[in-house]
Amino acid sequence: MKVCILGDGLTSLTLAKTLVNLGITVDIFSDKKVKNNNKIQTIGISKNNIDFFDKNILDIKKLLWKIKKIEIYSENLKNENILNFQDKDKLLFSIVRNSDLYNFLFQNLKKNKSIKFKRKINFENLIKKKYKLIFNCDYFHPISKKFFYKKINKDYNSFAYVTTFEHSKLSNNHIASQIFTKKGPLAFLPISPTETSVVYSAKGKIELDLKNLLIRYNTKYNIKKINNILKFKLTSSNLRSYYHKNIIAFGDLLHRLHPLAGQGFNMTIRDIKEISQLILFKQENGLDLDTSICSDFEKNAKSKNYLFSNGVDFIYEIFNFQNKIDNSFISRSIKFLGKNKMINKFFIKFADRGIVI
Ligand SMILES: Cc1cc2nc3c(=O)[nH]c(=O)nc-3n(C[C@H](O)[C@H](O)[C@H](O)COP(=O)(O)OP(=O)(O)OC[C@H]3O[C@@H](n4cnc5c(N)ncnc54)[C@H](O)[C@@H]3O)c2cc1C
Repeated sequence: MKVCILGDGLTSLTLAKTLVNLGITVDIFSDKKVKNNNKIQTIGISKNNIDFFDKNILDIKKLLWKIKKIEIYSENLKNENILNFQDKDKLLFSIVRNSDLYNFLFQNLKKNKSIKFKRKINFENLIKKKYKLIFNCDYFHPISKKFFYKKINKDYNSFAYVTTFEHSKLSNNHIASQIFTKKGPLAFLPISPTETSVVYSAKGKIELDLKNLLIRYNTKYNIKKINNILKFKLTSSNLRSYYHKNIIAFGDLLHRLHPLAGQGFNMTIRDIKEISQLILFKQENGLDLDTSICSDFEKNAKSKNYLFSNGVDFIYEIFNFQNKIDNSFISRSIKFLGKNKMINKFFIKFADRGIVI
């Protein structure tokens, strides 16, 4: 059984490895030479997704830095701590450098005979190859413009500024923190005893002096060196239709969201879980991979993904509204609600597993 994947990003390689593990032959089409040297960007992966990754995709434990507690602060409440997420001393999520995960997957796939990396081809030639399924993980592929353009879009009029900084050794650097500043959320995400990554999602087009901001908001680290800064325009989008014939859209093309909850790639891992289950069902029942996979995937994943994206957007809008009215009432209410064990557990589960029905 042969399928193909368009694009060679993190999503494509993760999906490819999953499919190969299921005994499927995969062709990956892309116009780039496969490489990811971006050592600045990091991703937080939830505990539940790491368990799935290790068991069904690839054991990535050695790449991960564990996070056991999350602290949330609000500038509107004089930078007071308003929420804490912690489950005894258990792991909440882990941080991995995008490039480490990417290169680890690529090195593994390179050795696998069931996978071939090919140069991009046009739509007509692709169709002639008669793949059972085509997974489109390439946001900018002409196919995306042709079939996957109907989306619910939102422009946050914001940019995410991303960097890492080196600091004096902190042996217990396992606490992530996020400050809801008046311009947007600023997250500190540790990646080793001596290095922490930063994502600052700030409103407006004016270039920010992130280095000065780090000095202003950081209370914990003795910063030695701040690395290069990357900048991303922040939009969110939800695709209206997940497939066209046997072409399934995948990854950020299905759902792109604000990074404040670190959930974009986590949603993709949940989608991979969903697709795997559908494929396994077909295989166990001796059935062919046909287009019913596409419609079943949409049926099972779309509403959950839409609700989840809206949940993340709702959190963004709550703090955005607070900043507009310049009042600390919302932060005080969140602080009060966060002390309720049930509500606190609900948020931990929401971030860990997504929407579970
Ligand atoms: C600042 C930021 C922080 C994030 N943090 C997390 C997190 O902690 N946990 C999590 O699960 N997901 C997170 N995401 C989402 C995650 O990075 C994407 O879902 C994932 O990388 C998409 O994989 P890909 O294969 O499409 O592209 P990749 O191979 O990851 O990237 C391809 C190219 O697109 C760029 N890129 C990736 N995402 C975006 C974007 N949203 N806007 C513009 N350019 C982009 C990359 O830098 C790279 O140059 C974050 C996204 C951003 C922008």
